[in-house]
Amino acid sequence: MPLSTTGAHALVVPLSPVPQPYTYAVPPALDALAVPGARVLVPFGRRTLTGVVVGRTGEVAEGVTLKPVADVLDVDAPALPATLLRLTEWMASYYACSWGEVLRAALPAGTEVEGMRVLYRTDAPAAWPSSSKRDALGRDLLVLLGQRNGDGLPLKEAEALLGTKLPPALLRDLRAAGLLRIAEEATDPRVRAKTARWLRIRNGIDPGTAPDNLRGLRQQMLVATLAASTDRALSQADALAASGASSQTVQRLVELGWVEAYEVEVERRPEAFDSAAPAPQRIALHPAQRAALEAINGALVAGKTETFLLHGVTGSGKTEVYLRALKATLDAGRTGIVLVPEIALTPQTVRRFRAHFGDDVAVLHSRMSPGERYDAWRHLRAGRYRVAIGPRSAVLAPLENVGLIVVDEEHEASYKQFDPAPRYHARDVAVMRAHLAGAVCVLGSATPSAESYTNAQRGKYTLLPMPERVPVPGRAAARLPEVRVVDLAREQEIRRLRGALSVQLQEAIQARLDRKEQTILLQNRRGYAPILTCNACGHTPECPSCAVTLTLHRPPGLRPQLRCHYCGFTRAAPSACDHCGQHDLADLGAGTQRVEEELADLFPSARVLRMDLDTTSKKDAHRKLLTAFGRGDADILLGTQMVAKGLDFPRVTLVGVVNADTGMLLPDFRAAERTFQLLAQVGGRAGRAERPGEVVLQTRNPDHPAIQFALAHDYDGFIRADLPDRRFLGYPPFGRLVGIEFKGPNEATVEKLAGRWTTQLTKRLPRLLSGLSEADAQHLQVLGPTAAFIGRVKKQYRFHTILKAPLAVSPYALTAAVAEADAAAGSPPKGCRVNVDVDPVGLY
Ligand code: ADP
Ligand code: ZN
Repeated sequence: MPLSTTGAHALVVPLSPVPQPYTYAVPPALDALAVPGARVLVPFGRRTLTGVVVGRTGEVAEGVTLKPVADVLDVDAPALPATLLRLTEWMASYYACSWGEVLRAALPAGTEVEGMRVLYRTDAPAAWPSSSKRDALGRDLLVLLGQRNGDGLPLKEAEALLGTKLPPALLRDLRAAGLLRIAEEATDPRVRAKTARWLRIRNGIDPGTAPDNLRGLRQQMLVATLAASTDRALSQADALAASGASSQTVQRLVELGWVEAYEVEVERRPEAFDSAAPAPQRIALHPAQRAALEAINGALVAGKTETFLLHGVTGSGKTEVYLRALKATLDAGRTGIVLVPEIALTPQTVRRFRAHFGDDVAVLHSRMSPGERYDAWRHLRAGRYRVAIGPRSAVLAPLENVGLIVVDEEHEASYKQFDPAPRYHARDVAVMRAHLAGAVCVLGSATPSAESYTNAQRGKYTLLPMPERVPVPGRAAARLPEVRVVDLAREQEIRRLRGALSVQLQEAIQARLDRKEQTILLQNRRGYAPILTCNACGHTPECPSCAVTLTLHRPPGLRPQLRCHYCGFTRAAPSACDHCGQHDLADLGAGTQRVEEELADLFPSARVLRMDLDTTSKKDAHRKLLTAFGRGDADILLGTQMVAKGLDFPRVTLVGVVNADTGMLLPDFRAAERTFQLLAQVGGRAGRAERPGEVVLQTRNPDHPAIQFALAHDYDGFIRADLPDRRFLGYPPFGRLVGIEFKGPNEATVEKLAGRWTTQLTKRLPRLLSGLSEADAQHLQVLGPTAAFIGRVKKQYRFHTILKAPLAVSPYALTAAVAEADAAAGSPPKGCRVNVDVDPVGLY
């Protein structure tokens, strides 16, 4: 789509899943404002929608009359800078979704203006029969509108007041009879700039004369308060609090001409990361850091687009490199974006960026209110912030002139969006955005994804290795922690295993308690026990809505519960089997709650903090837990994978992995990679300062490659062992996948839909085959449909089909084939959905 910027017409993409842009006429008054990237209101069918201008065009087919753009919503600058507009277009084509869906994701939620229909009574005298029930409803409506004295009444409100729907035919008839006018009007956006009322002493007034001229004591106090403030002004709230005056006093002073009131825009900022950012330390880079920084800065200075893979072990000083590169970017007058997997889990990283760049940084995160998010977005757009730091959606921050994009922990699966569309991978979008902006992209990780590793091997990315930890003063060599493996199966055989913690791990914890050092324990399962089962009949309670067993929880102060981790369903835990009625139920396995209980038994005086989804549901809970642990308020931090990421606590010298096998045996070609990454990441939390660290891995699969290579801190060895299978099977990074998910409330219907749809896709394979080598052709396959690994979630049955293709097939040819299959299959039956997921990272 050419993005021409002049012409009498505008191409507009409504912010909804419509297949293509629509052409509208641009009234002369709006001509200068309706530029590409600007938000507009356009008539669309019977509604009015918010859309984005994506181009201006001159020619339109003969004899076509176009509807005009109704209004332009951006008056200062278009909402989207040019590169971002092009990026969204690329995302739509690459991720097989509509441009409107991507644009919606790039704009702050809740700011779109939607049309509503408003009804007005005309002046015509009522001549409406009331013989039928329908006529009576019409008469009631006219009476209602008549009471509005010329003001309109939104259709929805009218329906609410009348307690019934108003049939379109009735409205049409009323209008045809000249009794009613129907107008399309814009609703207020749900989110807008927030203002506060301020007061100031009027120019030319001498507040010193107040006691002589004002009779009321309150009036005198208020004037005195304002006179004593900077610029003789205060917010009304502050002025009232400080003077004890009331809003009537203000009103009176305004009438008397002493004081004037005005509105000032206020910014809503989340508090979480503002508190006490420490001053940045001045440190000299060590050689590997310097080499990495020089390479990055070289590309920045040359204005060259380049993607770097900063492969540095945990504690090698990657964050320090990001900080310096960002400083060079800002010094060159450009802006930067820093992506982190999840803000709540990386408070230390965020604080370091704020310490260096202060108020230049906008921190974006998922728990911001819509107002906070809108304010941050507007100030980024206006250039008041020059750095955006946040999770995956920050890659769409509306910054202009981006010079650097950093993706920290680039291997993290949380960079992939699933619902709603666009189902994008923020790392890959970051690389593309940098490309479009002529910027530098830095992907950092201690355990790069197989994709990025391979891209570096192929020369697409430039590898910057940092194989050693930053040397710490007082220690000869900064060493990675010692790793020990405890074979749980063997411990059980020799009858040494009582609960979840082996004797070896217990001893290691005791040693830390004795030395006043800290321990991090990873148990990647929440709740008390993953399974409750009947010893008599073997029955295990399942979720009524999902095809999964329920997890036993023992919430403090409440009766034990069974909970579904997929839909949140909760019931009281039974004391007898639902099936056979026997009182012989066994809770198998250990979640974080049970490990916590075991720790309390074994180490009664140890202070334990538990961090999992159940203890962090409140806003700011993560930060409070981590701050408490960092202060030394606890000896042991126990949690799910939340404890594995990005934490830097100098007193932690032991990391224990209670069960390294969780997730290892899932039917996913990335299961081993995920496990290795998690083990390496959590192990990296140990021994980051003077005292050496130790890692204890408990497993029933001590020979598994993920364990063996984690033991040796051998990333390269692991990835070289993991890749051949993927190459053989044509999986990423040696091939491409598109996952198609079908779901709906009726199993047979979904299965039929999946079958019909997949047949359409299969029909389109031959065209993709042309020009492929024989070896490549083998890997072009449609796999499925098959029932999903978890066949039902939230009462929805799920089936999957996977399209697998060699790299020689262009990704756009793949998505085109998928789009054609989708169109040919027709719209899914009621209640069913088809979700297309390009480059899926989850389970299929
Ligand atoms: P990574 O991001 O690779 O885990 P960090 O950048 O967090 O590593 O560095 C680990 C620790 O070492 C941090 O406490 C950091 O302040 C410190 N550090 C980083 N670079 C240096 C350096 N050149 N000299 C001294 N300390 C450093
Ligand atoms: Zn459920």
